[in-house]
Amino acid sequence: MEDKELFLALLNTPSITPDDGGLLTFIEDYLPDFTAKRVDVGNVKNLFLYKKFGEGVHLCFAGHVDVVPPGEGWESDPFEPIEKEGFVYARGAQDMKSGICAILQACKKITRFNGTLSILLTSDEEGEAKNGTAKVLEILNQERLLPDFAVIAEPTCEKSFGDTIKIGRRGSINGILELIGEQGHVAYPQNVKNPIHQIATILPKLAEHAFDEGNNVFAPSRLVITDIKAGNGITNVTPKTLKLMFNVRNSPSTKIENVERYIRSTFGLLYLVNNPGKEQLKFNLELKESAKPFLTDKSSIVIAHLSRSIEEVTGLVPELSAGGGTSDARFFADFGVNVVEFGVLHDTIHSANERCHLSHLYGLISVFRTLIEKF
Ligand SMILES: [Zn+2]
Repeated sequence: MEDKELFLALLNTPSITPDDGGLLTFIEDYLPDFTAKRVDVGNVKNLFLYKKFGEGVHLCFAGHVDVVPPGEGWESDPFEPIEKEGFVYARGAQDMKSGICAILQACKKITRFNGTLSILLTSDEEGEAKNGTAKVLEILNQERLLPDFAVIAEPTCEKSFGDTIKIGRRGSINGILELIGEQGHVAYPQNVKNPIHQIATILPKLAEHAFDEGNNVFAPSRLVITDIKAGNGITNVTPKTLKLMFNVRNSPSTKIENVERYIRSTFGLLYLVNNPGKEQLKFNLELKESAKPFLTDKSSIVIAHLSRSIEEVTGLVPELSAGGGTSDARFFADFGVNVVEFGVLHDTIHSANERCHLSHLYGLISVFRTLIEKF
């Protein structure tokens, strides 16, 4: 298939997470020279394709065929791609059927490569991401089929195609703190333990607190308060409890233990020091790490080869970043695989009228092909 024809065929197939819409079977048939391994878990479908060209390294391309639901506000049918002024509009155009199309075309077009080339695809990235990439990697590990290097074709570019590679991702720590006081009458404030007043002096120490200073790849790991609830919606009774929710997007230099220690001392000893004469606060703290941070070694050959390929195709030297949300790259990092992410722009992902410029799709195909041929 021609590049554009394949791209439109992928976009034409609705594949709302975790439904693959039949795309994995289509892709398996599209690369008949590759050995296929299917890993289906519940309603999640995964496909691993591999082919040995020579004795060199094992390079894996990875991605997801599922998309988020279209939502409201589309000017055209989200699963009937239309072309306008060089852009193709459809759900998944950037996230990430352009990436899938580029992987397939690059793997079909290469003329020289001396190692093992593989493709790992899932239908469970936009959903829970429990039975997708992570499960396949477990199996590959058992069968000694883990790759040396992985490239995930997620959209990473900010303003121009070629401007950004992701070489790490921040982790995510969620916290819930319950502050326990005593309900009382507003006319006798000296007799009540009002958790709203208790937290008043503490809040400035929490809002935007930075656990580290960050560096040239990671932004500082900051605490962001997402919710505060207390009170009964009346003006003459003070509440018994207050519930505070927060999140920390953390770099590898901030661990869940650092967050726990800071919160416990802020509500514990520090509160007593800063509020002489007050009683110790009663609180429950719950912390959960929903994703671990990772950073691929900057001297890894896959970063050098990818940067050079991007420069050759686009003329831009990409910035190495670790911004944005979490992605399946973290699962590769867990198994010690050197992983990087590169794809088209991400300015319209998950929004109405998602679109991708065709020149970026063609550019991505060239970058991936150039990259494979460098190994
Ligand atoms: Zn994505």
